[in-house]
Amino acid sequence: MENMREQLENAGRAVLETRNPEETFELGKCLGKAAYAGQVCTLIGELGVGKTVFTQGFAAGLGVDGPVSSPTFTILQIYDDGHLPFYHFDVYRIADVEEMEEIGYEECFYGEGVSLIEWANLIEEILPEQYTRITIEKDLEQGFDYRRITLQRIG
Ligand code: ADP
Ligand code: MG
Repeated sequence: MENMREQLENAGRAVLETRNPEETFELGKCLGKAAYAGQVCTLIGELGVGKTVFTQGFAAGLGVDGPVSSPTFTILQIYDDGHLPFYHFDVYRIADVEEMEEIGYEECFYGEGVSLIEWANLIEEILPEQYTRITIEKDLEQGFDYRRITLQRIG
């Protein structure tokens, strides 16, 4: 994990592999612990790849207690009981970026908390100049539960 942070710092990119949901949760937790105010993380990957598992770990790393699920029907779920306010977006069902404006996303992205956005590729045009892009991919040749997780600093 130290190595991962170093890679991310120095190369702006780190590639990790997990072989079960628990490892993905742990990776999320590790990044949640290192999260800072104003950080925006995007989560990209197909349905069922593990974005929510990762998010649950991330929330645990932030010290959020409550159960974290996919806020698919609300787009935004706010958790205030962690070390920092946690803004969990799932924009899978968003029709237009204007919906993000109605939600008041700017106060989240540019505020005191940490934003994590599932399906962020659908709202690319409103992402901040700097963010952390997290991509989760399957590779069935490596097994059903294998995931490749790429972290990238953008901007
Ligand atoms: P998403 O939010 O991307 O749609 P979920 O996190 O809801 O996906 O679901 C991921 C599913 O894949 C869970 O059922 C989880 O148990 C399973 N899974 C299997 N292997 C892994 C892995 N290595 N990392 C994360 N999830 C995994
Ligand atoms: Mg999900």
